[in-house]
Amino acid sequence: MHRLTFSEPGADDVENLFARIGVAGPHLVFAGHTDVVPPGDEARWRHPPFAGVVADDVLYGRGAVDMKGAIACELAAVLDHLAARGGKPKGSISFLVTGDEEGVAVNGTVKLLRWAAARGEKFDHCILGEPTNPRQLGDMVKIGRRGSLNGTLIVTGTAGHAAYPALADNPVHRIVAIMAAVMAEPLDAGSAHFEPSNLEFTSVDVGNKTVNVIPPEARARFNVRFNDRHTLASLKTLVQARARTAAQGGHFHIEWEPSNADVFLTTPGPFVDVVSSAVAAVTGRRPDLSTSGGTSDARFIKDYCPVVEFGLVNATMHKVDECVDTADLVALTTIYRRILDWYFA
Ligand SMILES: [Zn+2]
Repeated sequence: MHRLTFSEPGADDVENLFARIGVAGPHLVFAGHTDVVPPGDEARWRHPPFAGVVADDVLYGRGAVDMKGAIACELAAVLDHLAARGGKPKGSISFLVTGDEEGVAVNGTVKLLRWAAARGEKFDHCILGEPTNPRQLGDMVKIGRRGSLNGTLIVTGTAGHAAYPALADNPVHRIVAIMAAVMAEPLDAGSAHFEPSNLEFTSVDVGNKTVNVIPPEARARFNVRFNDRHTLASLKTLVQARARTAAQGGHFHIEWEPSNADVFLTTPGPFVDVVSSAVAAVTGRRPDLSTSGGTSDARFIKDYCPVVEFGLVNATMHKVDECVDTADLVALTTIYRRILDWYFA
């Protein structure tokens, strides 16, 4: 058991945990995060957000579903599994728990994985207990995530008097043309396990306070959620090429923010089958194998071993009155236990 505090200039120190039982393979790791998003206005909560009140078989609290609840289930399932085997695992079981997922995510899973690799830890498979079910336990297992990339389109021109446009070069005209061209065609039609990629402009900025002056520059920010038909590099090339065609020789450039959210897919196979069969056995429903939604720490774990995400119902995550049915905590524990029993059969 190792408690590790990681630091980085400009970010808060963060506590992390790595724990392992067993020395043999296979090595299954449970991952999770104990940090939570802020509660917002606590007066709007039915019960105090950090009291852990159980009322009418519902547990209320920030982190109940995202994702202290799932960590408790992982732990309970491992203890049950070990107890049934006289305290000894057949292979190895580990926990990778961070306190830096909801924030900047620099002193968390990234460093924890690097630390574990440096001391020779090798994982065969990972289960991340993020809340994956839209409505009911058993709805959805996540077997990958889309990538995410942010960019700013910057068009420069020549400022001038609005009454003498021939003496100026209006960047607004060109940015409108480039944006239209970039949005005109879908980036792709989706793939076997992913929805179509999407480019979304989120802000257009000229910042011009004077109505009769042609501005020198226009900017537009955008976010791309992309599937496995692209890489970060090929996506940049594609957007750049569309913009270049539309710019017709006029000046523009795109500033790309660094992205640590590349697309990934854990190809369905025996491991995914164990997880979805355990979900089906306990809930009576065969879960969708999905790659929808935002990013999670799975984007870092996938560089070390195949990772699958399954946790609680996410309907109240990040909201006032975040809560979970206690029956779901029991059922999720049973699912994790079933996974362990089958994985180490
Ligand atoms: Zn989470």
